[in-house]
Amino acid sequence: MLTRIDCSTHEEVYRVTDRESGLEGLIAIHSTQAGPAAGGLRMRVYRGFDEALADVLALSRGMTYKNAAAGLPLGGGKAVILGDPRTDKTEAKLRAMGRAVAELEGRYWTAEDMGMSPEDMKVLAGEAEFVAGLADGRFASGDPSPITAQGVFNALKIGAARHFGSADLKGRRVAVQGLGHVGWYLCDYLAGEGAQLIVADTVAARVEEAQAKFGAELAAPDEIHRVVADVFAPCAIGGILNGQTVPELRASMICGAANNQLADDAAADALHARGILYLPDYVANGGGIINAATEILRIENRPRFVAERLAQLEQTMRGILAAAARQDTSPAHVADATVEQGMALRRAG
Ligand code: NAD
Repeated sequence: MLTRIDCSTHEEVYRVTDRESGLEGLIAIHSTQAGPAAGGLRMRVYRGFDEALADVLALSRGMTYKNAAAGLPLGGGKAVILGDPRTDKTEAKLRAMGRAVAELEGRYWTAEDMGMSPEDMKVLAGEAEFVAGLADGRFASGDPSPITAQGVFNALKIGAARHFGSADLKGRRVAVQGLGHVGWYLCDYLAGEGAQLIVADTVAARVEEAQAKFGAELAAPDEIHRVVADVFAPCAIGGILNGQTVPELRASMICGAANNQLADDAAADALHARGILYLPDYVANGGGIINAATEILRIENRPRFVAERLAQLEQTMRGILAAAARQDTSPAHVADATVEQGMALRRAG
């Protein structure tokens, strides 16, 4: 059942419940100005409904910015299911969420996010047409994580060229927080270039695997942000750059896959004041939605579309970093201003 929640900052926000399956979730459509709202479905444990609501509102807004930065004709939306994906996920809950997505008649397209897999997307697709990230089918785009990681890696090299004077990552120390879908692929790219990895994950087995495969050093999940490194790559949770962590950072550049890394604008300013280069998350991690967009937009030549859009995204990142350096401000502010200007132009046109 969809119950509308009044929200002046978003076009539509719904609480999603299903008594039979016990589903408790939310869908937020921030904007459909550029096209149907698109953004993944996340499942995780929240401290309560209010925390889940704050998350879905911030994430859906972030998707509007991410899709705009990637030049996609898509708006921003997001969905969440409250619960532990390892123990609380059931087919009945996924089906109920699928029916909720169907009720929105294409104003919101969902896909895979934290706690979801392509198999889960298949279950949702049994109920709704508006599901991307499927493993098979004519326009299926599959798991977006490898492309997300590729985009983050490209961004990291752009940042390194600017900040360290060379894009070569050989011998650079990179601290990766989160060895999930994206973090793992990112480690693969980084290790392939000869970077020295320091890794953390809340799942011990994952960390041990990384130690064996990449020769990575290990750090505790609550220590990884403050290890001595050239780059800190947040690939787990949002809000990791905040009033407490920023003063503790010992890396001089931040580039990772996690959404909403900055707890607030003050965190962006604090990073800038410390001379730490922050690569805007929604530009660095746009590869995943570019990949999913091929399914939503029914693109025939997926590899070409993805390659072209990733190259454009690299140009966008270069432009943002150059402008931020000229203006002596955080790249986060330049990215937001660039996107907002584009949206205002579209509104005016
Ligand atoms: P995932 O669920 O596969 O991986 C997250 C990993 O982080 C897990 O291994 C988990 O154990 C670990 N983790 C959780 N809390 C942690 C903590 N406090 N410290 C260290 N590790 C912790 O998710 P994912 O798909 O790899 O996505 C990672 C991040 O990137 C998320 O913020 C997601 O929203 C964002 N993102 C993902 C994609 C994508 O294509 N999957 C695209 C854009 C953005």
